[in-house]
Amino acid sequence: MRRWVLQAAGLLIIVLLVRLMRSPEEAPLPGEAQLVEETRLAMGTVVRIRLYAAPEEAQPLLNRAFGEIGRIDSIMSSHSPTSEVRQVEQLAQDGPTRCSPSLAAVLQRGQFLAQETKGAFDPTLGRLTRLWGFPEAQQPPPPAQIDSALAATGYRHVRFAGDSLHVQRAGLRLDLGAGAKGYAVDRAVELLRDSDVVAGLVEAGGDLRFWGEKPDGRPWRFGVQHPRDAAIAVEAQAIGLEALATSGDYEQFFEYHGERFHHLLDPLTGYPARRSVSATVWAATALDADILSTAVFVMGPQRGLEWIEKWPGGEALVFYMEEGRLQHRASSGIENSLKINK
Ligand code: ADP
Ligand code: MG
Repeated sequence: MRRWVLQAAGLLIIVLLVRLMRSPEEAPLPGEAQLVEETRLAMGTVVRIRLYAAPEEAQPLLNRAFGEIGRIDSIMSSHSPTSEVRQVEQLAQDGPTRCSPSLAAVLQRGQFLAQETKGAFDPTLGRLTRLWGFPEAQQPPPPAQIDSALAATGYRHVRFAGDSLHVQRAGLRLDLGAGAKGYAVDRAVELLRDSDVVAGLVEAGGDLRFWGEKPDGRPWRFGVQHPRDAAIAVEAQAIGLEALATSGDYEQFFEYHGERFHHLLDPLTGYPARRSVSATVWAATALDADILSTAVFVMGPQRGLEWIEKWPGGEALVFYMEEGRLQHRASSGIENSLKINK
């Protein structure tokens, strides 16, 4: 069985056990908004939805939100040969090819942010990411193969206009893995909001978005994962930004001759980006947060934080190694609210 399935199943069991151990809550009155939570495996990770709704309405809403996440996955997945993205990337070699509204939304934002980040995020790395083969990878590919895969990448060789994609380099393949989860979170949040759910939270493997005010009036609070020690709590309040995402070198990696190789690639070299250990980005949407956490990770603390300071409506926290020690730096909007407690 694939490693992520085992890891995700383990996580799910822990989540379920914790829920079982909680004392039963008082039975709600009909129509009263209650906190309802459900966790399922989707998009290769653990997806958690929390919402405040009348108990009798909650289950159909949860089913629809998880259904929407499954639909997005089947469009964006590079692993599935029948996904829309796999079909479009082939057809688009011969000329402009129309995309569904969801695929178009991710491609349009992806191309825009690829330009803005000068390719630190690049949605055209498919040949390279498939060559590395995470999460199953156990050793780096031969350098000559990395070079030839790299030659078939580059957001500059792709045109996206209206709702159509045109790929202008032979053999180029897309990889939307750095944004698809974020987009799925956004879609689930939009669906629940449109269904008049006043407050809730959707989280997919470290990408998170919340909306509304909790009925008890207390603010939403959640931690960021510390990249090396799960016992350390990292918390920061980014006022007004309702989405955050983290990219880290600890999610998918292997060690080879004492060196760590992970799944976040530097599009300039074709090898894992070396400047960061993890990068968290707060943004208005989970799609932006997801894409930009990958981009800031690749750029590293210096260039990544300079970039985010100029980006309206974004904050970032970067962990990195310096002189053999783990360090961190945050953007000015969250610097003062950052708490790291053991
Ligand atoms: P995760 O999915 O593990 O939470 P990310 O959101 O950062 O992490 O996405 C990482 C995925 O994006 C990789 O598995 C790969 O498919 C793809 N990817 C890797 N490097 C880049 C990059 N520089 N730009 C765009 N996509 C990338
Ligand atoms: Mg990302």
